[in-house]
Amino acid sequence: MMHNTMAAEGLAARLFTALRAASADPPGVSRASYGEGEAAAHALARDAALALGLECRADPAGNLFMTLPGADRALPPVIIGSHLDAVPHGGNYDGAAGVVMGLAACAALRGSGTTLPRDLTVMAVRAEEMCWFPAFYLGSRAAFGLIPPELPDTVRRSDSNRTLAEHMVEQGLDPAFLRSGQASLEPGRIHCFIEPHIEQGPQRAEAGLPVAVVTGIRGSLRHPRCLPSGAWGHAGAEPRAGRRDAVLAGVELATALEEFWLAEEAAGRDLVLTLGEFHTPTTMHGPTKIPGELRFSLDIRSEDKAVLDAAAALLASRAESMAARRGVALDYGAGMRVEPLKMAPRLRAALLAGATKAGVPHMEMASGAGHDALIFGQQGVDCAMLFIRNTGGSHNPHEAMELADFNAALAVLLAALPEIAG
Ligand SMILES: [Zn+2]
Repeated sequence: MMHNTMAAEGLAARLFTALRAASADPPGVSRASYGEGEAAAHALARDAALALGLECRADPAGNLFMTLPGADRALPPVIIGSHLDAVPHGGNYDGAAGVVMGLAACAALRGSGTTLPRDLTVMAVRAEEMCWFPAFYLGSRAAFGLIPPELPDTVRRSDSNRTLAEHMVEQGLDPAFLRSGQASLEPGRIHCFIEPHIEQGPQRAEAGLPVAVVTGIRGSLRHPRCLPSGAWGHAGAEPRAGRRDAVLAGVELATALEEFWLAEEAAGRDLVLTLGEFHTPTTMHGPTKIPGELRFSLDIRSEDKAVLDAAAALLASRAESMAARRGVALDYGAGMRVEPLKMAPRLRAALLAGATKAGVPHMEMASGAGHDALIFGQQGVDCAMLFIRNTGGSHNPHEAMELADFNAALAVLLAALPEIAG
C-alpha cells in the first residue's frame, strides 16, 4: 500500500508550528489542563480533523474524538491518542506528538484511498499532566467514568487556586459528567489503544535510533513523605550505643536500597529508584545535635510486579530491624502503588514488524513515566506505545524532537496499522 506521506508530514509540521504559536509562553509553551493553551490545542486538532473530513465529537469532559470511518462501522475502533496539555514552560511535543501522529495517519490513509477494516479514532485526551491539578490522568479517567464524585470540587489548579469544576465550566464543559461517574468510552468497545509519545529519557538518542517500541509502563511504589524518628541528643555527650540517629537510619536504608537495585540489575530485572528531599527539619537541626528526625521521599519503579513486591518487603523488613537496632521508627507515611502495565504482545509484534517493513531502525524499551495508556490498560484495553527520539529530556523547553524522527515513527505506525486494525 502506498501512502501519501508527504501530505501527512506537511500536516504534522504545520500543526506543530501552529500549536507552538497558540501556546507560546517563553521559554517554551504552557498548556494548562482545562486552560487556554489546552483549549487552543484542542481547537487546532479539531480544525485539522474537520479539514480531513473526520467525524468529530467531544465528551462532556472535553476529550476529543476524531474518527476516520472504516469498512465495518459496527466494529470497535482502534484509538490512537495522547494528551494536549503541557507543563508550564514545557516542550511542544510531550503529548501533542501522539495526537498529531493520529491525525497524520488519517491524512495518509485518506491520501492513499485506504479504508481500514474498522474505524480509526484519534483521541485528544484532556488533563494528563499532574502539575496543574493534584490528580492523575483526569481526562482518560473521566472518559471511563472513574473520577471520584467529590474530586471536581476539591482539587484546585496550581496556578489559579480555582477548582477543576470552575475551570471546566469556564471552558464550556460539564463537571456534572465527572461527578456522575458516567463514561464516554466502554472498554469492551475499543479494539486497542495506541499512544505515540516522545521519549522522556536519553536512551533513544544514546542508542542512535529514532524509534522504540515500548514493552510496558513501569508501575510505581511511592512514599512522598517518609518521616524516620529517633531522638535528638548532644553530639558530644551521647555514646554511640544510646543514640537513636534518624540520619544514620536513613543512610542505612538508602544503602540497602542501592544494593537491592544493583542485585536486581545484575539479575536482568527492571528497576529505578530515587530518594529525594533528604533533610533534617531546619527549625530543629544544628551542627551539635544528633538528628532525631529526618524527612525523605521514595520513588521506586519497575516494569515487573515481583520487583515492586520485593521492594515493599525490603522496606518493611528494614523498618523492623531499624527499630530494633537503632531505636528509630521508620515511618514511610501514606504510600501509593500503581501496578505495571504490559503492552499487548500482538500489538508490540505488529509495531516491530511495521518498523522492519518501513526500514526504520528501532529497539524495545520500558516506559519510565506514566501515560494515559496506563488507564486504558487498567480497564482491560490492549495497549501499545511507540516512542520517538527526543534529545532534550521532557517537561522542559529544550525538548527536541526532530521532524524526521516523527516521520519515521509515522511510517512505522502506517506499516503496522493494517495488522493492528485486523
Ligand atoms: Zn506526556
